[in-house]
Amino acid sequence: MEVIDFNQSNSMLNRFIAELRDITIQKDQMRFRRNLERIGEIMAYEVSKRLVYYKKDVQTPLGVSTINLPEEDIVLATVFRAGLPLHQGFHNYFDHCENAFVSAYRKYLDEVNFDIHIEYLASPEIEGKTLILVDPMLATGSSMHLAYRALLSKGTPKTIHLVSVIAAQQGVDYVTKMFPNDKTTLWCAAIDPSLNGHAYIVPGLGDAGDLCFGEK
Ligand code: URA
Repeated sequence: MEVIDFNQSNSMLNRFIAELRDITIQKDQMRFRRNLERIGEIMAYEVSKRLVYYKKDVQTPLGVSTINLPEEDIVLATVFRAGLPLHQGFHNYFDHCENAFVSAYRKYLDEVNFDIHIEYLASPEIEGKTLILVDPMLATGSSMHLAYRALLSKGTPKTIHLVSVIAAQQGVDYVTKMFPNDKTTLWCAAIDPSLNGHAYIVPGLGDAGDLCFGEK
């Protein structure tokens, strides 16, 4: 599996990531959501360079222009709830794609230990299509993997793009092991070194869902 870490090069993305992480700027929920959306737009543009293209003749008022256009068999899937602004950013660019939604939540067994539960899936058929699965925080990698397993009830995708904004190295290692190696690419805006005892990414940014939509 190819792992792409945008943090290896400098771009405007750095500013948006810095604002997401900044404990003071985080107080502005609308800015937090918009930064996730902006990152989604930039990452969508980068992912678009890896799609399959076909030639199309476009009639202009003065002639015909032949343009390479990306394939349209794309399903954009998101894990509730923090995934929503990132999904919006992708959807702003991939406005012809189909959409899927999966819910994943932590059911705590005690103070520290939890299982991930998937309860909701709304998805079109994904057989033979390109699946872009976005989840801003890749901590242990379990939510991403369970969401993917739920989506497999709708068919087997041809190609998989996993997108996270901040990933922990442990999550990267997990998905590298669990997803089909030959057809999966993992895109991360940054990869952080560790998880704390509650499986939050360190230094990370905190709870992305709460920062988007308020505390549970
Ligand atoms: N989910 C979050 O919102 N933050 C983390 O650090 C890990 C999972």
